[in-house]
Amino acid sequence: MARKRKLVAAGDPGVDIKNSRWFIEFTTPHEAHMHAMKRFIVQADSPFQKVEIAESYQFGRCLMLDGKMQSAEKDEFIYHEALVHPALVTHPNPRRVAIIGGGEGATQRHCIMHPSVEKCWMIDIDRAVMDLSRKYLPEWGGKVWTDKRCIIKAADGRKFLEKSKKGSFDVIIIDLSEPVPGGPSYMLFTKEFYRIVAQKLTPDGVISLQCASTQAPDLAMHAMIIRTLRTVFPYVRAFSIEVPAFDLPWGIAVAGKTLDAARLTRDDVDRRLAERRITGLKYYDGITHEGIFRVPKYLRTAYSQPGDIITDDSPLFTAI
Ligand code: SAM
Repeated sequence: MARKRKLVAAGDPGVDIKNSRWFIEFTTPHEAHMHAMKRFIVQADSPFQKVEIAESYQFGRCLMLDGKMQSAEKDEFIYHEALVHPALVTHPNPRRVAIIGGGEGATQRHCIMHPSVEKCWMIDIDRAVMDLSRKYLPEWGGKVWTDKRCIIKAADGRKFLEKSKKGSFDVIIIDLSEPVPGGPSYMLFTKEFYRIVAQKLTPDGVISLQCASTQAPDLAMHAMIIRTLRTVFPYVRAFSIEVPAFDLPWGIAVAGKTLDAARLTRDDVDRRLAERRITGLKYYDGITHEGIFRVPKYLRTAYSQPGDIITDDSPLFTAI
């Protein structure tokens, strides 16, 4: 007699649907993802945004800002490895790295895995995000909060770069929250901002950034960011990652003045990771690097089409 198979969800099977508190994130104006939360640990209004930290059944601890999922315990590795390592591996000797945003600390934790990194700045506008992450999401940042190479400041990332000397950084990682109207990040998605970023990079500098959803019907924002980057950087490559807690495919771009991330082969990447003694990654290696830049046709079509670019006079805002 055939035995009945019991299907168990990947998260905690003990979800109490009726008594859970639900966090509902609108992923488009017409779609939403509901997360059943065991408990909310923090719900606070900082001077810049609404900050929430909660324990979800499916993804473990999560950070949400202004109602948008930023990262979750069980899958943050996908986002942070994809944001950091393709750019740092593309640079042959990254010594000085600046992170604009990135308040949870995980981006910085990945940057300092590269032993050539002597100094790594994390400039997040919101001290509350950094303090709360350090307290309630300690695994995200690991030792960055006390590591001597890590310089952590609460400041506006654009102002910080404006004040930095030309050619200060080998790599700049732009890990910002989405450009919501009235929010702190929308002036850091413009052509003028990317020009400042380019000036502050060394001649062979590389940048990496999160750049909106790549969901097929809603590509406009992602494509506009890529077009805008292309007005400033000669080499711009973009790819899409699947972060289950986001419930949307998400775009990452790597851009360079002289270095093209997509030219590295799987052997180049694996050699650099081995030379740098970087172990324990779960998402990124040579095969991943080669694969991510082979984006599907609808994305390549979107990148090749002319259209508006984002400027200080005409900034970009998320639709929701
Ligand atoms: N993983 C993320 C996502 O899903 O898009 C982004 C992570 S990180 C938490 C985003 C950070 O950008 C926030 O902590 C926010 O305070 C910071 N931020 C927003 N605007 C900023 C600005 N103008 N300068 C520096 N940091 C900024």
